[in-house]
Amino acid sequence: MVVVMNLTAGTEQINAVQQRLEQFGFEIHIIRGVNRLVIGAVGDRRIISSLGLEAMPGVEKIVPIMKPFKLVSRESKGQSSLIKVKNVIIGGDDVVVIAGPCAVESREQLLTAARMVRQAGAVILRGGAFKPRTSPYSFQGLEEEGLKLLAEASAETGLVTVTEIIDEASLELARDYVDMIQVGARNMQNFRLLRAVGRSGKPVLLKRGLSATIEEWLMAAEYVISEGNENVVLCERGIRTFETATRNTLDLSAVPVVKGQSHLPVIVDPSHATGERKLVAPMSMAALAAGADGLLIEVHPEPDKALSDGPQSLTPEDFSSLMAELRRLAPAIGRRIR
Ligand code: PEP
Ligand code: MN
Repeated sequence: MVVVMNLTAGTEQINAVQQRLEQFGFEIHIIRGVNRLVIGAVGDRRIISSLGLEAMPGVEKIVPIMKPFKLVSRESKGQSSLIKVKNVIIGGDDVVVIAGPCAVESREQLLTAARMVRQAGAVILRGGAFKPRTSPYSFQGLEEEGLKLLAEASAETGLVTVTEIIDEASLELARDYVDMIQVGARNMQNFRLLRAVGRSGKPVLLKRGLSATIEEWLMAAEYVISEGNENVVLCERGIRTFETATRNTLDLSAVPVVKGQSHLPVIVDPSHATGERKLVAPMSMAALAAGADGLLIEVHPEPDKALSDGPQSLTPEDFSSLMAELRRLAPAIGRRIR
């Protein structure tokens, strides 16, 4: 359930509602929207009507939420969330493009990629320092050295940064070097890690699991928010189906479905979804048309030499042309690309 407080409700009234709910065993989460405050309350919904909340001063209405996810639900907030990662806002009119190599491989590779994606209009730099690889013999990432390079690339270009963490130790390291933490598809249901990411307070990019339903994905976001961290951006990156023509099957209908059910922004990763360079541009266009708030695109200065995900990585030139196409599309769908 959420208790929507009216615009003029003061601190005392808010505290009174909070105390009453806590007295009856509800777990409370205060959500401050731009225009109003709502109190999310998780507990026994059979007793709600007996609490007399509607009559308490400052209460506008009570909204029961039947879905298993509460804090993530659109009803709990009544408006779309804007997630701030330093100077970048995700979920507003601007389409946010995250780009960079799959893995940080060297200083030269990362800095070249960073300069080129910035030049083309990306606002967030990605690069994996801890790579969850299918084979234990594949390149596993530069770890802390990679994080240092991300920080250096950010200092030089002004781009904000996102990197994937794979466990609590890598989260501890990464939080000091990057601006946003990515939870990868393989860890979407690592519930202890989700809680730790929630406690870190850092903005989170939460990818959809390889075989996760939309509800499971939203429950993963609920884990993060339930620890007090509301800064979650969801990323559709393709799911496993019987189809083998593409690496995964990009579930674009997930974008409007999630936006209907949740206040969180949703971005799309056409690189991992398709696994193929030539499919990245058409699926990027389709993602924006479907309402995505941004894109995550793998770009490598020399994709043929990439240590991971080369076949799906764009060259900087391809990325530049794609950005030009996206800039033409954006106004037609009421969005902007800076
Ligand atoms: C990645 O972004 O490099 C990555 C490993 O993505 P996913 O978790 O979606 O496979
Ligand atoms: Mn990758």
